Amino acid sequence: MQAPGSRSPARQGERPRLVVIGNGMAATRTLDELLAIAPDHYRITLLGREPGPAYNRILLSPLLAGEIELEQIRLHDRDWYHQQGIELLTGTGYQVTRIDRHRCRVQCANGQQIHYDRLLIATGSLPALPELEGLSPGGNPLKGVLGFRDLADVEQMTQAARAGNEAVVIGGGLLGLEAAHGLNCLGMRVTLVHRAPYLLNRQLDPEAAALLQRELESRGIRFVLAGRSRAVRHHTDADGADKVAALELEDGQRLAADLLVVTTGIRPNIELAAACGLACRQGVLVNDCLQTYDPRIYAVGECVEHRGLTFGLVEPLFQQARVCANQLAGIGTGRYRFTPPPTRLKVSGIQLFSLGELEPAATDSPPQALVYRDPAGGIYRKLLLRDNRLVGAVLYGEVADGPWYFELMRTGQDLSALRAQLIFGQACCERLQRTRPPVTAEEAA
Ligand SMILES: Cc1cc2nc3c(=O)[nH]c(=O)nc-3n(C[C@H](O)[C@H](O)[C@H](O)COP(=O)(O)OP(=O)(O)OC[C@H]3O[C@@H](n4cnc5c(N)ncnc54)[C@H](O)[C@@H]3O)c2cc1C
Repeated sequence: MQAPGSRSPARQGERPRLVVIGNGMAATRTLDELLAIAPDHYRITLLGREPGPAYNRILLSPLLAGEIELEQIRLHDRDWYHQQGIELLTGTGYQVTRIDRHRCRVQCANGQQIHYDRLLIATGSLPALPELEGLSPGGNPLKGVLGFRDLADVEQMTQAARAGNEAVVIGGGLLGLEAAHGLNCLGMRVTLVHRAPYLLNRQLDPEAAALLQRELESRGIRFVLAGRSRAVRHHTDADGADKVAALELEDGQRLAADLLVVTTGIRPNIELAAACGLACRQGVLVNDCLQTYDPRIYAVGECVEHRGLTFGLVEPLFQQARVCANQLAGIGTGRYRFTPPPTRLKVSGIQLFSLGELEPAATDSPPQALVYRDPAGGIYRKLLLRDNRLVGAVLYGEVADGPWYFELMRTGQDLSALRAQLIFGQACCERLQRTRPPVTAEEAA
């Protein structure tokens, strides 16, 4: 007997059913790609815990800062799903709570069971919270403590900004800086605490980070660098709830906080996959075709682990989506290979781009650095070359050449002929190539 509301297996002649868990960016891109190459291959059911159609998560930062409106971040409206024949089921009732691989069906929080012929897991990641005294007393989240992951977080931060003054952000990576900027734009007094001695220490070198810090300080954001959090203190608010009051640091500083945003990292959301016995390490293990250890089940996005890597930026996920769609469509020619994506910060008025290696590290063959500085103009460029090939770039203040450097690095060209002009960018190098006399046969020999 079937559970009430269950969807049964495909009858002969019917199209197979593809069930997608998670209505985020990787799932949406996979469906876009699939519909472009095989629009009639599947009956598609899309299950998402967050309410409503998918949105562009990247744009949560400008949304928080009040720079764009909610309607501008939607990836598709409801009509689109209808037109594509996709059954869109979203909200907490459609959170998938179990995958039954033997019966090929998923169970939702509302009890509904849905059969699949192919399953796509795209459950993204979750904020990784640090071990910190008082952060979640009794295992429950403390009022006023948030991650920065979804629309609900943005709504709560916006409300908190109306009610309170002091915000503390833990974590000086991309997310933390964008959260700090957004809250600052909403009128809160923001202090950001970062463990490392300089901001964006995985994406910038100390010199570019200092320029960034100076610019953000001029906008009113305060920084505590090399800061170690010790404990979160709380009090009972007017509603009788335990609410955050302050963050205490190991050096004894006490930072008052009406809102505490924790952006110390993410971890792949693998609970469902692990519980149904799919092989997982940090993420759900997939092969180059984005297939899990169960050939009926694929996975894409931040929930996966591919060749030992997990993911936190969209560019690799979009490449995964293309390969996965190709496989789901039965074409099966694509293979996923990771290409490191460049980093950009979405804080209005700040131009920043970084790529590859950051510092001439103490290795057997350290790269050589080419550097250009214009401190008064707030411009800094550093390129790292090994064997005359670009292996890293940090650009601050002026980043138009970023994509060009990215291409040079990706293709691994020998840049000896351009070395003297390389730091000045594409236009300068192209001008040089146009004006240079052609190489004679003797010179070439
Ligand atoms: C504020 C912010 C700014 C960012 N800025 C950038 C940027 O500038 N550049 C960049 O490259 N990347 C950026 N990122 C990262 C980028 O957004 C992610 O890499 C991307 O969204 C990951 O896509 P995903 O589909 O794997 O996961 P998600 O987009 O997180 O989607 C996963 C979805 O699955 C749902 N889900 C989870 N479990 C279940 C379940 N059991 N049942 C049903 N649904 C479930 C979740 O609710 C979620 O909606 C940013 C991220 C954030 C949060």
